[in-house]
Amino acid sequence: MKIYIDGEFYDKENAKISVFDHGLLYGDGVFEGIRFYNGRVFRLEEHIDRLFDSARAICLKVGLDKAAMTKAVLDTIRFNELRDGYVRLVVTRGSGDLGLNPNLCPKATVFIIASKITLYSEDKYVNGLDVVTCATRRIPHGALSPMVKSLNYLNNIMAKIEAQIAGAGEGLMLNEQGFVSECTGDNIFTIKNGVIYTPPISSGALAGVTRNVVFEIAAEMGITIQEPNMTRYDIYTADECFLTGTAAEVIPAVKLDTRPIGDGTPGPLTKKLIARFRELTVTTGEPIY
Ligand code: PMP
Repeated sequence: MKIYIDGEFYDKENAKISVFDHGLLYGDGVFEGIRFYNGRVFRLEEHIDRLFDSARAICLKVGLDKAAMTKAVLDTIRFNELRDGYVRLVVTRGSGDLGLNPNLCPKATVFIIASKITLYSEDKYVNGLDVVTCATRRIPHGALSPMVKSLNYLNNIMAKIEAQIAGAGEGLMLNEQGFVSECTGDNIFTIKNGVIYTPPISSGALAGVTRNVVFEIAAEMGITIQEPNMTRYDIYTADECFLTGTAAEVIPAVKLDTRPIGDGTPGPLTKKLIARFRELTVTTGEPIY
């Protein structure tokens, strides 16, 4: 495996960054998780755009422009001779001193790892995930914009720990007002009477790239999507439920807090969305070679 760090490729053992990097010291940085399928990078432009928006939101100068960053991602996959896998693209504030001051970090660090990933086993796509509600609430917009895909993921990690203790596949996160926001690493959708619902971005959800793909698939299929404020009531009473994320793709959720959603099995519309999503992943995207 060859890892990109600031324009050079390193073996895994030698891929190292400084202990003075503020990405490590403070979680000061941004990242993207990107998938490639069948020799094509899925939604690369959207991921690069979100990365640069995240960086701008935290006053982080990336040091590369979008074209150079796109090339670096493609080069990293090519260098590793992969056709299917996952890219982790990270931009940190760079090395500084032990204080918080980001102005003392003269240059951002960029690193890119291209690898394989399996988040959930195929069985979960067939039988669905159990989800539990976490006590840890989503970070409010007033503290740190949940739109920023920052290296500071402790909020989600604390919720993930709760989900794991409960033996669930994913954890549902509510915002400070008690409205449904998202899961620890995925967006959430329900289906009721043929209409798809998902919480609005203002709820604290990340503007997921996969979430957007579901909007496009729904438009293509002529299905309405609405983004109302949602509570757990809406999930308990939904006909179907599914989660979306780059790593998770589109995956059915069949229980919330041990209560079956609908009949407790993946619903027919969810299955259709999964099939169409999978078709798009292997037939669209930026060619790598
Ligand atoms: N919410 C959170 C908190 C995430 O970390 C992610 C990405 N894993 C998502 C939602 C889904 O976003 P995307 O579809 O862009 O991967």
